Amino acid sequence: MAQQFSLQYQNLWIQQLKEIMRARTRKEMPLAMVHTYGCQQNVADSEKIEGMLQEMGFGFTKDPKEADLILFNTCAVREHAEDRVFGNVGALKNIKRRNPQLIIALCGCMMEQEHVAKRIRESFPYVDLVFGTHVIHRFPELLFHCLTDHHRVFSRGDDSEDREIMEGLPVRRDGKVKAWLTIMYGCDNFCSYCVVPYVRGRERSRTPEAVIKEFQELVQSGYKDITLLGQNVNSYGKNPDCGLNFAGLLKKLDEIPGDYRIRFMTSHPKDCTHELLDVMANGTHIAHHLHLPFQSGNDRVLKEMNRHYNRTQYLELIHYAKKVMPDLSLTSDVIVGFPGETYPEFLDTVSLIEEVGFTSLFTFIYSPRVGTRAASLPDPISAEEKSKWFQELCKKQEEIAAVHSAKKVGSVERVLVEEEQKKPFLLSGRTGGNIIVDFPGSRELCGTFQNVRVTKARNWILEGKII
Ligand code: SAH
Ligand code: SF4
Repeated sequence: MAQQFSLQYQNLWIQQLKEIMRARTRKEMPLAMVHTYGCQQNVADSEKIEGMLQEMGFGFTKDPKEADLILFNTCAVREHAEDRVFGNVGALKNIKRRNPQLIIALCGCMMEQEHVAKRIRESFPYVDLVFGTHVIHRFPELLFHCLTDHHRVFSRGDDSEDREIMEGLPVRRDGKVKAWLTIMYGCDNFCSYCVVPYVRGRERSRTPEAVIKEFQELVQSGYKDITLLGQNVNSYGKNPDCGLNFAGLLKKLDEIPGDYRIRFMTSHPKDCTHELLDVMANGTHIAHHLHLPFQSGNDRVLKEMNRHYNRTQYLELIHYAKKVMPDLSLTSDVIVGFPGETYPEFLDTVSLIEEVGFTSLFTFIYSPRVGTRAASLPDPISAEEKSKWFQELCKKQEEIAAVHSAKKVGSVERVLVEEEQKKPFLLSGRTGGNIIVDFPGSRELCGTFQNVRVTKARNWILEGKII
């Protein structure tokens, strides 16, 4: 199943593209602007695309006006994200008019959808290249054809490609402290509201050998905060060539010596086992942070969402996790206004967040997605009403987070220093629980772990002093 990305084969295109781009732009180093929408998985994909662009001789810019190639890596999870992409692609029209040599490429989840590809084809004639999530490794080849055949290229790959894994793609990582490491692709859960299984293909895991090798390289290169990524990391290892489940993989990674921290996201409650929570509790490098999306606190809504757990089961997991890790920081995703949800059912979500005490929440208003089951359900509650519920939930979570932060005052936290802020001698870092802490210190400390005493809580950000 896992195929090695053949650099030799793609190198053919990469080497020719180097020459083509130099001649086309009359620049030693043409510039690319890559803009990423959506989740960390997209961020990780963009790092691979930038890795390939780098091999083609590109440098990078954030200014669209000086770019020779602009690529948007898009997100299809909610309508709002899609609207932003269409708006921003629309804004490229003038830039392309002023610079007709500019190459405009779109990729990612949105491009896997037939209706989106059709709209791009018909309404955005200045977009040169469109490709989906399954053919990222063929980007050099697609770009080559686009430039040499002088016509627009649209590619979503063939049906088998949504089951493949490509190993060995070059990666251009952003920063030297935090790294993303994809351990599995796709999703088979088909939650009734979610478009991900349709645009990211079937669930498939990288082999433990491939993951462990990349992890070791990251530790050796000095990365301090490594996040294992996947749509549902805790169902890792279902394909027969794996031989390890997620708890087993995490344990093996934790045994690798070094000064670093491991995180993972996202986890599905139905696949979250006591075994996994025990591995976290007994680990040396594993952050005591669990992102465990519950989506709704009401059993009827959970069933309609096709989530395969109920409120009691979710709370039992949380109870066990807190028992084995009393310092655990919990975060989650929630959807407000699922079709047919009533106000009393929504209040079950509010009471669940009170009961759990999340450090922070990602809150979303339900957004109908073409092709999903929920999109055909009756949805009688108005957008205004849903927005009121949403505000109510956010206000409650702010109160919970403030209480949570206030409890931290006086404690000593092990903080990974990430960056110096705009103000000199003011640093910013994160605790194992993923809470931001600001404190005075010299920028040489970036990339090191420091013990910081928390002196003040500002909503969800803490302030402190190195001890
Ligand atoms: N695989 C991850 C996350 C996938 S998408 C998981 O299962 O947790 C990230 C979040 O977006 C989801 O957890 C959900 O809360 C939200 N989401 C997905 N589809 C949505 C939709 N149609 N409307 C609103 N929110 C949605
Ligand atoms: Fe979407 Fe559910 Fe899969 Fe997460 S687990 S990606 S919410 S279908």
